[in-house]
Amino acid sequence: MSQPFPNDNIAKLLQRVRLSAEKSQKAHRTPILLAVSKTRPAADIRAAHACGLNQFGESYLQEALDKIDQLADLPITWHFIGPIQSNKTRPIAEHFQWVHSVAREKIARRLSEQRPTGLPPLQVCLQVNISGEESKSGASVEALPALAALVDELPGLQLRGLMAIPAATDDEQEQRQAFARLRRVFEALQQDHPHMDTLSMGMSGDWEAAIAEGSTMIRIGTAIFGPRQR
Ligand SMILES: *Cc1c(COP(=O)(O)O)cnc(C)c1O
Repeated sequence: MSQPFPNDNIAKLLQRVRLSAEKSQKAHRTPILLAVSKTRPAADIRAAHACGLNQFGESYLQEALDKIDQLADLPITWHFIGPIQSNKTRPIAEHFQWVHSVAREKIARRLSEQRPTGLPPLQVCLQVNISGEESKSGASVEALPALAALVDELPGLQLRGLMAIPAATDDEQEQRQAFARLRRVFEALQQDHPHMDTLSMGMSGDWEAAIAEGSTMIRIGTAIFGPRQR
């Protein structure tokens, strides 16, 4: 049995992340720890915030909106990291600061149009299907230059970087190969978009490989909150 949350997962994880980044020649600084709180109650997010975390990632829109409302008293930066249906873009544009899962031009245009003018631009990572799996969402590597150019022009969006979920594997060499591929695609795009600064890669099972390959933001659910029921 794991301990009930909150426990000492967060402090230990932050320490390990710092050490990994110090060892990595490709990590220029310690990556941001994005706590993936999908399926977790608002009380768990409050507890994690009290442990020093302030960036949270959500994948299921309605559940996320409920929690954003319940936690409106906390200075949290909310990241949408799940698949985006085109009829659900408005609440994302209105309630989140970041979106990591933009993969289509139509979604980018709608998010920009629907971003309230009083708010800063929505911070965007383009999701890349880096392992080329047919079942996975994300833009193909070939589609990225046009998508990046569009996002760069849209007034409601600010292009920050790339996100990917590589094919799951326990083999650290394979993990590193996929992350290295994403980093090279990122560096190539930076030629035209030098302000891009975010490489969102690494989850509970592969964040060490991601940091070794230069991740700037790791998205961690299970290793903070314990196993999910769904
Ligand atoms: C659920 C999820 C995560 C976190 O996964 P863990 O293995 O629990 O750390 C990260 N990124 C995305 C896009 C997710 O959907």
